Amino acid sequence: MGDTAERAAGLVEELRSAGVAGVTVVWADNNGIPRSRTVPVASLPQVAGTGIGVSTVFAIFDTNDGIQYGAPGRETPSGDVRLVPDLDRVTPLAGQPGLAWAPGTQVAVDGTPWAWDQRSLLTGTVDALADRGYTALVGYEMEFVVSAPTPDGGLVPAYGGPAYSPHGLLEIDAFATDLLRDAEANGLRIGQLHLEYGPGQVEISLGAADPVRAADDQLLARQTVLAAAARHGLRISFAPLPSLQVAGNGWHVHTSLWRDGVNLLAGGPEGPGTAGGGYVAGLLRDLPALAAVTAPSVGSTARLRPGFFAGAYGFWGVENREAPLRYVLGSEMLGADHANVELKVSDASANPYLALTALLTCGVAGVEEGLRPPAPIGEDPGTWDEAARAAAGVEALPTTQAGQEAALLACPRITDALGPERLGAFLAVRRADATWAAERDTEDVLAAWRWRY
Ligand code: GLU
Ligand code: MG
Repeated sequence: MGDTAERAAGLVEELRSAGVAGVTVVWADNNGIPRSRTVPVASLPQVAGTGIGVSTVFAIFDTNDGIQYGAPGRETPSGDVRLVPDLDRVTPLAGQPGLAWAPGTQVAVDGTPWAWDQRSLLTGTVDALADRGYTALVGYEMEFVVSAPTPDGGLVPAYGGPAYSPHGLLEIDAFATDLLRDAEANGLRIGQLHLEYGPGQVEISLGAADPVRAADDQLLARQTVLAAAARHGLRISFAPLPSLQVAGNGWHVHTSLWRDGVNLLAGGPEGPGTAGGGYVAGLLRDLPALAAVTAPSVGSTARLRPGFFAGAYGFWGVENREAPLRYVLGSEMLGADHANVELKVSDASANPYLALTALLTCGVAGVEEGLRPPAPIGEDPGTWDEAARAAAGVEALPTTQAGQEAALLACPRITDALGPERLGAFLAVRRADATWAAERDTEDVLAAWRWRY
């Protein structure tokens, strides 16, 4: 027996004795929507070696489950890929007893990496950074709206205000308790949970981890939240903007870049040091293109409203909550290693593996090219007039698919990192979504996608 089969056989015994009947293997599509296959526990040794057969069309699934043939190399319904579970991440699900969860990588039928797979792209990006002496830490904040179920799919916030109040928590405390318990059992480290600003909105933050783990965790956390909510008859919207009437769900992503055990983002109250400044400058230079990957949907662009802490204008600031790039300080109390950069233009409609690949690529390019960031901005440029913004070099981030696509295609760093296959499929579904949305009211589009992530 090979090493993998042997490990999988050991896992089968463990899972069986924990009462697990099936393993759900999950990947994220180009809309950030998790997709999956479930196999009986007994077949884990086999699928760990040769994978589970999956159609190639998922690369070109749009947000409505429409299939967008015509992306380069993806012209027909023919083809098969193998979905291989990551045995290191097989997790019995506390909230779905009887099932375990694992992230999967899609490989070509000859066992080589599949040019449309996103998870192996991030793995390769992390390995390439390691060859150059870098490691990264990534932590997601995840906002979502908790709703009572409604027959028409509407939103009925599950608790009343005030925002951030412990009193509102009383109305959903059974759900919150199960969520915290299940998350711990599922190996997720929750930094904190709080009621957020919007009606029915809750946020959890996940502990920082290496990039691939952080992306996997983000998918596992969704499953964990949904299972806890289902037990209490609640519905969850992870959508970037569940409705024009409510606050957006930002999935702010915090990153720090390390070399020789040193956090390059460490610095002082003015900002990071030289290398960390390069990282910030690299992100700022490519921010419109980056946002096209990290906040890529019609709901994402609708979320980018000035004054909502969503990061509508392209600038950076030190602890500025309105900045799409917020430098988070280390301090005497927290330690220099706490320093990081938060990207606010990030949400559930991003494929987390593509998003982190783009983010790290742009940031590290800034370090290696020795870029220097402009002075940080402490105010909200959304409150300035156009002339003041122009004088400070601050522009609104693109709020249309065409604008995002133009920015993305003008960014060789991200297009090279993604490669023509992934980029072509990604753009095909973005265009299809935009065409569909253009014929509808934004509120109707948001309603249609409210429960899809
Ligand atoms: N809900 C805001 C967003 O759309 C973020 C609020 C906050 O800063 O926590 O990203
Ligand atoms: Mg928040």
